[in-house]
Amino acid sequence: STSIKSNSSANIKVVVRVRPQSIKEEEGNNRIVVQVVNDDFLIFDPEEETQGFFFHGVQQKGRDLLKKVKKNMKFFFDKIFATDATNSDIFKGSTYPLISSVMDGYNCSVFAYGATGAGKTFTMTGTAENPGITYLTMTELFKQQEDLSTEWDFDLGITYLEVYNELVKDLLHPGPPLNLREDSNYGVIVAGIKVFKISNADELFNLLEQGNQNRTQHPTDANAESSRSHAVFQVYIKMTRKSTKEVRTAKLSMIDLAGSERGSVTGYGGARFTEGANINKSLLALGNCINSLADGQRHVPYRDSKLTRLLKDSLGGNCKTVMIANVSPSSLSFEDTYNTLKYATRAKKI
Ligand code: ADP
Ligand code: MG
Repeated sequence: STSIKSNSSANIKVVVRVRPQSIKEEEGNNRIVVQVVNDDFLIFDPEEETQGFFFHGVQQKGRDLLKKVKKNMKFFFDKIFATDATNSDIFKGSTYPLISSVMDGYNCSVFAYGATGAGKTFTMTGTAENPGITYLTMTELFKQQEDLSTEWDFDLGITYLEVYNELVKDLLHPGPPLNLREDSNYGVIVAGIKVFKISNADELFNLLEQGNQNRTQHPTDANAESSRSHAVFQVYIKMTRKSTKEVRTAKLSMIDLAGSERGSVTGYGGARFTEGANINKSLLALGNCINSLADGQRHVPYRDSKLTRLLKDSLGGNCKTVMIANVSPSSLSFEDTYNTLKYATRAKKI
């Protein structure tokens, strides 16, 4: 068996969320391939004998007889959320600690990574009954804003865009692709994007749903719901101290990344192939940037993709970053889960 250990880098945190099995996964003759041992340690593709308790004594007869030896790989992360974790648990263990940094004037970012169907959008946007961490984060941000309001004036604006095929598109005000630009207050900004002023998180939820309707989606052979775009929610905060007029600006970016599954397995060609290639390029560039930062390297290849150029000033330095790696527990997603765990480990590796 192999053990992959990753050291913590203070400003980059990598957490894993294992979603519950879908009905299809539950009904099929599938194995559970992710065993959460405790809150920072999991075993991928555990050997059968370690699974006795996991399967509640149900015999796994005649299963996988021709299959290769189990990988039985140990993975360590900052935090692992098992199938019973709620969006509120994820919020507390991921973005909640970032909010005070944002209020101190530091840019922060959070990414949901994983294959299509792994639970990224459920984690970020969620549903009306089960709001995701974007909503929960904004609720807390408004609360803290209220608490600080005797001392500070706040100016808060939100944008929601997608990076699709290396082009930036406004999800809340669809139009032609937009360009990135440097701004003296906010660093990298998107020229011409519509900034919405909101005063509570409920206004936000409708905007997110509306924006998600505008996301570029294409039916592919492998998955009709496949999303090939990165959805980037950003909140720009300007704080002015009432007494001294001291100004603080910061930006919080919350990104629902495109599906990380390999383009090659989805069986499409032509235009779709370019899409897949570009998506892999952005995810690869993001991984390379985070890896360089975790390594303490001086050269960080931000320029390698649109997504990393957009987030150049939200990764590294004093910026806090959280990567949420979403996986299914089922053997149906064996390769995707394995690849996601490896990517997430690489994001932390020193
Ligand atoms: P992705 O955005 O990664 O493609 P989704 O978030 O759309 O995946 O999740 C796929 C399906 O699984 C959706 O029907 C979603 O509601 C469901 N799902 C994902 N995560 C959970 C969870 N933690 N609890 C319950 N259902 C979930
Ligand atoms: Mg999604």
